[in-house]
Amino acid sequence: QKAEWAKLINEKTVSADGQHVELAANIGTPKDLEGVVNNGGEGVGLYRTEFLYMGRDQMPSEDEQYEAYKAVLEGMGTKPVVVRTLDIGGDKELPYLNLPKEMNPFLGYRAIRLCLDQQDIFRTQLRALLRASVYGNLKIMFPMIATLGEFRQAKAILEEEKQKLMAEGTKVADRIETGIMVEIPSTAVMADTFAKEVDFFSIGTNDLIQYTMAADRMNERISYLYQPYNPAILRLVKMVIDAAHKEGKWAGMCGEMAGDETAIPILLGLGLDEFSMSATSILKARSLINKLSKAEMEKLAESVLQLDTNEAVMEAVGKAVK
Ligand code: PEP
Ligand code: MG
Repeated sequence: QKAEWAKLINEKTVSADGQHVELAANIGTPKDLEGVVNNGGEGVGLYRTEFLYMGRDQMPSEDEQYEAYKAVLEGMGTKPVVVRTLDIGGDKELPYLNLPKEMNPFLGYRAIRLCLDQQDIFRTQLRALLRASVYGNLKIMFPMIATLGEFRQAKAILEEEKQKLMAEGTKVADRIETGIMVEIPSTAVMADTFAKEVDFFSIGTNDLIQYTMAADRMNERISYLYQPYNPAILRLVKMVIDAAHKEGKWAGMCGEMAGDETAIPILLGLGLDEFSMSATSILKARSLINKLSKAEMEKLAESVLQLDTNEAVMEAVGKAVK
């Protein structure tokens, strides 16, 4: 099997009936790029930039960030690189920010909420990204967006920093796609409205599942509620993909679910455009998708949306995909 997968390193990902999808990788640092290239990644679908900020006692400077972003963009050449702005809070702490303890960190002051409040941190990161943008195919993604207002504000700040840099004579890429993570149910429900303003969606199922099921993703005692194939989740995913396509935008997924063998046939059927996963899952996923018929998976997806439980969906996929 490994030998069969190795042959797929430089291949595109195309279903048996000719539908191309993109298989991208999730990375945490520029060091992860080697794994992306060695596993045939067609892009970076999620660069979790918070690791630049963690395990140290002060903020990374603008130049330090610029070097990291530039290295990733150059390393990927013309392939797309989706960089997520700082997603700190929840389970990821930054001691040097001295944030007060919260009762519900996953529902609290984190990610875009913190960035819109402490704008010096956000603006520094955006400037580093804009300066690096000329070295590759950069797309910027905002995490934990719950309202359209947050997206508009984040985008306006990005635009302000871009204008400032250009006024100073710094080169910035002409067009940088800006999108959002869909990981909060309110945003999935309002995807049709968001789709008019964003360039793309990336569905963060790790959080979307926890928030939809109201089940902390770190709490093992309730892990039975962590149900990726629950039709409630699948219907939300469908809403997001359909809303994107209606406006001519693309929809990806960067939660664990995107690399899951049971989920992939359904996601292909729902029309997901980009699957972002750990690099080591890419070749296996490509081998699977190459064997699947998109038309048949569309029928499968339609039927599982009508089922009643996580287990029933697993069983149906197991029968349809052997
Ligand atoms: C997600 O929530 O699915 C996601 C990809 O983000 P993270 O796992 O970093 O919260
Ligand atoms: Mg998340």
